[in-house]
Amino acid sequence: MTVDSIWQPLREELMRWENAGRTAEFWLRDDDAVEPTPALDRLLALTGDFAVPVTLAVIPAVTDARLADRLSQAAHAAVAIHGWAHQNHAPGDQKKQELGAHRPRGAVLDELARGLSQIVRLHGERAVPMLVPPWNRIDAGLIDNLGSIGFTALSVYGPPKPAPIRVVNSNVDIMDWHGTRGCRDYSLLVQEIVARLQQAYDGGEPVGLLTHHLVHDEAAWIFLERLFEVTGRSRVCEWLPVSVLIDRRTKGGE
Ligand SMILES: [Zn+2]
Repeated sequence: MTVDSIWQPLREELMRWENAGRTAEFWLRDDDAVEPTPALDRLLALTGDFAVPVTLAVIPAVTDARLADRLSQAAHAAVAIHGWAHQNHAPGDQKKQELGAHRPRGAVLDELARGLSQIVRLHGERAVPMLVPPWNRIDAGLIDNLGSIGFTALSVYGPPKPAPIRVVNSNVDIMDWHGTRGCRDYSLLVQEIVARLQQAYDGGEPVGLLTHHLVHDEAAWIFLERLFEVTGRSRVCEWLPVSVLIDRRTKGGE
């Protein structure tokens, strides 16, 4: 399959949006940032080149002012709260969770409140009071309390479930976690993006791309570059800061 034929389904889907005079919306969430690294530099340079806003889900317990200093050079980056320490509290036979029901709810909420204040203290205006649970998992019982400790939004993975807080989920993960642990097959990823766009066309959520800059192989970086080439310079597509999506839902009163 040639490079162009891999991307053709996306180009065709975007043509449909263009013919209808509509704008296809995307947003980018990247998880696990803690400190400046060459991989973070690469992510910020790549997104900066294509004017793609990026929401970094940062781990509060282990980050410090060095990341804030680095991001002061990156006006297109926002920072969300990636749990507290990205620590697993589930038993070995269960899926990993930091924010599960394995500990008293009050203890988990205390950590999350500390996480939020740490990120706001370090990042100021760049901080978005959105919780991104590690491993995209959170005890449903905790969600009711997030508003009371200052969060305005939650972002996990997949179709959003009803919640008493704004939910802005990622829905296309570029990494093959259970196989190669590198980038997923490009054709499958393009198909998935097209499927998300088709849902969005009929009133569904924007395409929420999920990346993990610290573990990207070269194929993952190249995929992002190609995707930004197809979408970032197209009049039909718009890459939005997550704050716009949160505000829109607040105003919509969903
Ligand atoms: Zn993570």
